[in-house]
Amino acid sequence: MIVILLGPPGAGKGTQAKKISEKFNIPHISTGDILREEIKAETRLGRKAKENVEAGKLVPDKVILDIIEKEIRKSKNRDGLILDGFPRTIQQAKMLDGMLEDLDFSIDKVVNIEVDKKELVKRLSSRRLCKSCKQITRVDDESKNICPECGGKLIKRKDDDIKVIKKRLEVYRKQTEPLIDYYQSKEVLINVDGDASEPVVTERILSAL
Ligand code: AMP
Repeated sequence: MIVILLGPPGAGKGTQAKKISEKFNIPHISTGDILREEIKAETRLGRKAKENVEAGKLVPDKVILDIIEKEIRKSKNRDGLILDGFPRTIQQAKMLDGMLEDLDFSIDKVVNIEVDKKELVKRLSSRRLCKSCKQITRVDDESKNICPECGGKLIKRKDDDIKVIKKRLEVYRKQTEPLIDYYQSKEVLINVDGDASEPVVTERILSAL
């Protein structure tokens, strides 16, 4: 089963992708997570991506394709894949179509998580990542920096700064939103209202799949 999670930054794609991945026992591939790991490890790929990621812009297609091609090839021996954060442009979607065709695979569903812009800004600016357990948490008070799960230190992603958030939402609207029509015309799109608690959204997604 090949499932793509689509939606603006802050819609909860990563959280929901993990749930689907556990439910169906298929790997979750997040291009954003891979890029952040590469940046942290200061690899060649990470150095190429750093500036764009931190400015809220898209990383060039060539860099993303190098990452994703490897993962798609591995999926030959798997029961499927959950793609989170890829594709993000029509060009990437067409490249993905080509890669899947070569492997005789096709996209089963594209889940589009819809959330209102005001809510997205609120979610992203209060989002924190635990340095130890990697859990994502929201804080209502800027001074709180202790993970409620494990007591580890909470950090803010560089691209969750308000200026960068606005850039990411603009990039989404211009470059990624056209994918909704692209997948609608392929009859694989499911729209899910993401303006609810995480378990409720999970339930909505699983029943739509
Ligand atoms: P995310 O964690 O999915 O919000 O991704 C964080 C950042 O990684 C994005 O703002 C982009 O800079 C970069 N990124 C992730 N996936 C892609 C992609 N498919 N194409 C281009 N850039 C990407």
